[in-house]
Amino acid sequence: MSSQHSSNAEQVNWIDFERAHVWHPYASMKSPIPVYPVKRAAGVYLEFEDGRMVIDGMSSWWSAIHGYNVPELNAAVEAQLKDMSHVMFGGLTHKPAAKLAEKLLEVVPHNMNHIFFSDSGSVSVEVAMKMALQFWQATGKPEKNRLLTIRSGYHGDTFGAMSVCDPDTGMHHLFSSILAQQIFVDAPRATCDEEWDSSDIDAFASAIKVHHHELAAVILEPIVQGAGGMCFYAPEFLRQVRRLCDEHNVLLIVDEIATGFGRTGTLFACEHAGIEPDIMCIGKALTGGYMSLAATLCSTHVCDGIHADSSGVLMHGPTFMANPLACAVALASIELLLSSDWQMDVAKIEGQLNAELDICRQLDRVADVRIKGAIGVIEMHEAIDVEQVQKELINLGVWLRPFGKLLYTMPPFIISGHQLSRITSAITQVCAKA
Ligand SMILES: *Cc1c(COP(=O)(O)O)cnc(C)c1O
Repeated sequence: MSSQHSSNAEQVNWIDFERAHVWHPYASMKSPIPVYPVKRAAGVYLEFEDGRMVIDGMSSWWSAIHGYNVPELNAAVEAQLKDMSHVMFGGLTHKPAAKLAEKLLEVVPHNMNHIFFSDSGSVSVEVAMKMALQFWQATGKPEKNRLLTIRSGYHGDTFGAMSVCDPDTGMHHLFSSILAQQIFVDAPRATCDEEWDSSDIDAFASAIKVHHHELAAVILEPIVQGAGGMCFYAPEFLRQVRRLCDEHNVLLIVDEIATGFGRTGTLFACEHAGIEPDIMCIGKALTGGYMSLAATLCSTHVCDGIHADSSGVLMHGPTFMANPLACAVALASIELLLSSDWQMDVAKIEGQLNAELDICRQLDRVADVRIKGAIGVIEMHEAIDVEQVQKELINLGVWLRPFGKLLYTMPPFIISGHQLSRITSAITQVCAKA
């Protein structure tokens, strides 16, 4: 009895303490919206401290593609832990990094040949930008030091990455006066090749034509734009971007941090367009959601350029670069993905999202319904009351995190048809409420 009492008291204590002292993403410390304490997670379920179970429709922000507490991934972490959890990567190396690099080079676009490991997606974007800037410095064109991108993009929260996020939806307007001034063109209009009109590339084409002498690179998310608006665009746009980058001698950086590892129906989203980038960022699902790890990959051409003036060293080196635990679990996650029938799993999710969310199109409050691979997006006419909607969703047994006008899901690939129906029915119910 008394131990029960003290454990309840302890629980209240840590939650209160946490609320008073610990920041959450994009949150107020003074008037935070509720956060829900999670005790454990397994399969597609999150178990809250109070015993409630919810189905995770977010895959912990695109990352937990295999769900939680995955035996193969647990085993990889445990095995690596017994050897070493971390050693510095400056002057030392290890098999987990080498093995992961070898596996990655098998699965990414063929021209990718060199890998820089870092600890988060934002940092991998910083590194990609440094690669592009160093490439032009070392090859005698230091004036090529700006980036061109499309609106509605999201590339992370560090200062370089913020400078290429959508200036309006990118959540970073507070800092606009100190960000590098990059060049933006409107996001593509056509959402698929069938809607493509040859004039759809005109704005991008004229921007690259005007600015190419000062452009180091174009950066964009291929096919699916994530946190900047959850928009999809036609592969033809990406093919045209590749062509124009070649024509005007500008590097192409694709940010596959959200789209990588199967989410859109191909292993990497640039495969929809059949293009190869010059530089590529990956993160999020790289470790199956187990640990923070990201990477920036580049072609031999980019690597050679960085070293062209023979002073060439790439000026970056995170403390936890190529963390062995993270590398080991990333390798296990990729092997698990490739040994599964992930194309079928994603196609099934896509089919079911199409079938079960279509009804939302008829609702007054709904402006648009978009499905691509294992991503389902409902765009409302008005901003969503996150606190209220989240509460309703949890009562329906589902975890989602709406933002702005968007209610969306990108579930773990292992989700069953029945579990996915719980998500789509919860979405439909909260959208139907007046
Ligand atoms: C999440 C995300 C990032 C930033 O990654 P972090 O690991 O959060 O720093 C960058 N680009 C895209 C497309 C993302 O979805």
